Amino acid sequence: MSLWEIIKRLYPYVRPYRPLVIGTLLLTLVGSLAAQVNPFVLRYTVDTVQELLNQNKGLAQGADLLLLVSGLLLGKEIINTFIQFGQKFYGEKIRINVSSTLSQDAVRKILSYQLGFYSDNGNQTGKLQTRIDRGVESLMKLVQNFFIDILPLFANALVALVVMFSANVYVGLVAVCILPLYFWISYRQADKLNGTRRALRGLRETKSQGLVNLIDSAVVIKSFVREDYEEQKQAQAQQNLQEAQLQTRKTNFRYDGLKTFTEQVGVVLIIILTAYLVLDRQISIGAIMFHILLFNNVSAPIRQLHRIYDEMNDALTYSEGFFDILDAHDAVEPTGQLLPDHLRGTFDICNVDFTYPSGTQALHDVCLTIEAGKTTALVGLSGAGKSTIINLLCKFYAPDHGKMLLDGKPLADYDTHALRQQIGLVLQKNHIFKGTIEENIRYGVMDATFEQIQAAAKQAYLHEQIMQLPKQYESDAQQLSGGQQQRIAIARLFLKNPPIIFLDEPTASLDAIATEQIKNSLEAIKQGRTVVIISHSLAQIVDADCIYVMKEGRMVESGTHEQLYDQRGTYREIFDASARSLNIEKLARVMVDDEDEVGDTAA
Ligand code: ADP
Repeated sequence: MSLWEIIKRLYPYVRPYRPLVIGTLLLTLVGSLAAQVNPFVLRYTVDTVQELLNQNKGLAQGADLLLLVSGLLLGKEIINTFIQFGQKFYGEKIRINVSSTLSQDAVRKILSYQLGFYSDNGNQTGKLQTRIDRGVESLMKLVQNFFIDILPLFANALVALVVMFSANVYVGLVAVCILPLYFWISYRQADKLNGTRRALRGLRETKSQGLVNLIDSAVVIKSFVREDYEEQKQAQAQQNLQEAQLQTRKTNFRYDGLKTFTEQVGVVLIIILTAYLVLDRQISIGAIMFHILLFNNVSAPIRQLHRIYDEMNDALTYSEGFFDILDAHDAVEPTGQLLPDHLRGTFDICNVDFTYPSGTQALHDVCLTIEAGKTTALVGLSGAGKSTIINLLCKFYAPDHGKMLLDGKPLADYDTHALRQQIGLVLQKNHIFKGTIEENIRYGVMDATFEQIQAAAKQAYLHEQIMQLPKQYESDAQQLSGGQQQRIAIARLFLKNPPIIFLDEPTASLDAIATEQIKNSLEAIKQGRTVVIISHSLAQIVDADCIYVMKEGRMVESGTHEQLYDQRGTYREIFDASARSLNIEKLARVMVDDEDEVGDTAA
């Protein structure tokens, strides 16, 4: 992106603050005029003092002058304080406002994108955040440079140069001759440091990321006794950072020295020239000070040039990634117009192919029917494509081709948000937000009353456990056990009360006791709803009204448990393997022995 393109993109964000921008620019102009007052006052002072001395007048006559000069300088400084405050504050106000609008825009856009956008390589959680943060940060530096740094400094320099020229063309010319050299050194400095700030930031992030990883992996590190190895890794990152920091400082100090020297050469040249002109009686003695102060005003902005140049480069680099996020129009979730009042939940899927944005084809020519009010189970080995079907049913992704109907109408025609209001989704591991149990259950219906939340928790067999916690519904939900968190997800579902429910291995990460309790909660919720369940648990599958068996993205068998069992196909293979893994024969024997013992005792 070129600077011009960035400015064009930023303009709509700055436009609402037009009065503020004009005000800031006016203050900038007044500020740069005020900055020239000192040279004038000093010239007047020196010349008047000289005049007094020439007339053999002393302190008594000079007192008026001192009073006038002090009054002028202090008065100007008071005004200047207000101008600077206004200029900086309003500049900053523009920057902060634009920055929050930009960030909020990015958030809104991201929320409107399809799931495929998040799984894209450049958009994974950390990367996306970095892209937004860096984009906004560098764009704001650009705004800041413009309103707070560059503009005032350069306006100041320009006015000073004009004043210098109008006072004496030769002195003005000396100043102008020094400037290219000064510019060149600043340019070389910026060139040498090009990207070092970025590299430094990268190294700092690597280091802090390393530390975070260290804490996250503490158990593994300790159990493998890899403390020395990890310390070594950190030391390496620290050393890289240290070297880069020193190198940057070295380059900076070298060029800063060179710039100060050049500036001093300019000052010396101006002293020589003005002193010559004074001695030649072409200008007054006060003009020496006058021109030196003006020259200082001219050279001040160039001292900052390398930093501004570097930050501009940052803006050029990072803004592209940021605007790419705002511009991902293709990623916006498609939606239809159909607003379902109440869905029955009959899905007809016919000849559906689906390929993930990464290129993995997950479904091949899949056909299935999910009947309203019944429980349909999807069975298959890991990676067979079961979750992908649920992803398509929720409209998280659209199929490559094939037909998907809900209650006889194309799924694509439904308003996406309205459709999802009618669907409840429970996954293997459900997200628990940072917050209390109450807040987490409330996610199901944001304006639910506390009584409704309690009722949902009761239905999910969670209420009793919550009441035993010291802070009850106010307890931190993230501190709950896996089984309890899963029941929060189910309570959310009860609260939402949707007619269609998708359960994707809802008990896979739970222990046997929790699984049994959750099975009860799920049995309660299944009543009268359309349920699709993916599970490896035989107990949950055998109860289903209809079972579909998937293998490598294809639908291979379907029917009831009994029918599929007798077919001796893929379902039977999976079923037998599950039974063997449970060691069901031995379990059955133990249970039979146990029953016999109970029987004998009873006899
Ligand atoms: P199952 O639920 O049967 O275990 P999935 O539907 O999750 O299987 O996955 C089917 C195939 O699609 C697998 O090959 C998997 O690697 C791939 N897959 C799943 N999710 C994604 C994704 N977000 N991006 C790319 N490929 C995916």
